[in-house]
Amino acid sequence: DAFIVKVSAAKQLNAFIVETPEHALAAAREADAARAAGEVLKPLAGVPIGMKDLFCTKGVQTTAASHMLEGFKPVYESTVSQKLWDAGAGMLGKLNLDQFAMGSSNETSYFGNVISPWRRRDGGNAPLAPGGSSGGSSAAISARLVPAATGTDTGGSIRQPAAFTGISGIKPTYGRCSRWGVVAFASSLDQAGPMARDVRDCAIMLEAMAGFDAKDATSLKLDVPKWEQGLSGDLRGKKIGIPKEYRVDGMPSEIEALWQQGIDWLKDAGAEIVEVSLPHTQYALPAYYIIAPAEASSNLARYDGVRYGQRELPDGANLQDMYAATRAAGFGPEVQRRILIGTYVLSAGFYDAYYTQAQKVRTLIARDFERAWLDCDLLLTPTAPSAAFALGEKSADPLAMYLNDVFTVPSSLAGIPAMSVPGGLDKAGLPLGLQIIGKPLDEQGVLNAGLAIE
Ligand code: GLN
Repeated sequence: DAFIVKVSAAKQLNAFIVETPEHALAAAREADAARAAGEVLKPLAGVPIGMKDLFCTKGVQTTAASHMLEGFKPVYESTVSQKLWDAGAGMLGKLNLDQFAMGSSNETSYFGNVISPWRRRDGGNAPLAPGGSSGGSSAAISARLVPAATGTDTGGSIRQPAAFTGISGIKPTYGRCSRWGVVAFASSLDQAGPMARDVRDCAIMLEAMAGFDAKDATSLKLDVPKWEQGLSGDLRGKKIGIPKEYRVDGMPSEIEALWQQGIDWLKDAGAEIVEVSLPHTQYALPAYYIIAPAEASSNLARYDGVRYGQRELPDGANLQDMYAATRAAGFGPEVQRRILIGTYVLSAGFYDAYYTQAQKVRTLIARDFERAWLDCDLLLTPTAPSAAFALGEKSADPLAMYLNDVFTVPSSLAGIPAMSVPGGLDKAGLPLGLQIIGKPLDEQGVLNAGLAIE
């Protein structure tokens, strides 16, 4: 009840698109009944969580924060959300996000931006971005409206908002969580993962969310490890790599200092620190911003005004007119930009120059990591090159916005697990995140290093 009251009292943050108190209450009642009957409780019995509005929820509006899907009520439940309900959790509501998860500040949402609960200490009272695309999730958790939430991460959408709001979030290895029922952005990159106040809660959530699903062809046929049980802040015998290419020009000195602080914490936990090189890092961002829009342009072709959501049918319109009018009205400007970029790089004349080239770069980036694992077990980097920026500061300049993803996209392209944990505050009192990147399937190592830092 306390959470339901808080959610409805915190409307000014705009973290929720839809509230579903009855769903959370039903789970709480079930947990109470189980407790009264002396039954063994489910791992998330009665825990009220937030659901990023990219996960299809049966009978509950699912919009991807787009006008295109306004009013769309799926007739089925996504695998990840179903697994959470099976583990006893309940839903407080559907959380706001960047439209179709495209963005780094939650400002591309059709339902308005989310406002971070954080403010600068040094006077500037401008409302801050909660990060994106999982900005509703990060704001709701950091404002303590929900104890945990789902996120999705295509190029950083769990980690960067976690860093901006002082919480934790992990993107697991590609294939750990089923993509079935998650509105698709870039299918070879999209991964679901948990966001929560701390590392332990992330481990508990991830155990509930992960697991093989025959309905997703890229789902990994592996048992879900007992990550929470395996948590230990002891890093003796572990080598942590510091990739020198992440020392980018113009990085604020406070981020440098935070990184050094993280190194010291990991040393205190017994780890050995080694410098490593990931030589193709600088090509990750351009490759991502070709591959992700290319896949998006294909995935979003399904929004044709016939099968889902909105339809615009001007007088006398033929089928082509209907498609054009529907897509012009349904998709926001950033989504249209991505579709244009995507169709351009996939077009016959430019395919080899852009798309094929980007795929080759993607392979080189994955190989950089494989080579690094010969020298270390985990990598430590900052999560983002800055603390949270003000709403409106970057929204007119897509390139400046894209640059904020510089540290998160390489591990997305490689499909490897990566987590952001709070590292401390900058001079303005804003949270900064540290990122731990691990070998394929080594979520345990990533979580353990996260625990040592938090
Ligand atoms: N900010 C990145 C983008 O706009 C990543 C988004 C995401 O991970 N969903 O594409």
